[in-house]
Amino acid sequence: MAYVIAEPCIGTKDTACVDACPVDCIHPRKDESNFNDEELLFIDPVECIDCGACVPVCPVSAIFALDDLPEKWSHFAQRNADFYTR
Ligand code: SF4
Ligand code: SF4
Repeated sequence: MAYVIAEPCIGTKDTACVDACPVDCIHPRKDESNFNDEELLFIDPVECIDCGACVPVCPVSAIFALDDLPEKWSHFAQRNADFYTR
């Protein structure tokens, strides 16, 4: 399974991770019409190649490998995935 963006992104959402991702699987990007509708960004669990490149660039440490996702934020795994199925 993929990497997951959790709670700390809310209020920051600076899109640094978007620029670091080699497969463009973090959305919405700034140039997408729904960017302002979302309080955080989401990683596509199907497209993510588990490279980890997004993790060190996040200024608020919001991105976790699924296995490392803190329990209190476990629901963010589903929330990321849901963005791509709705
Ligand atoms: S782990 Fe790699 S592929 Fe997955 S979202 Fe981060 S940068 Fe993109
Ligand atoms: S780098 Fe971190 S804070 Fe910035 S958009 Fe990505 S997950 Fe959110």
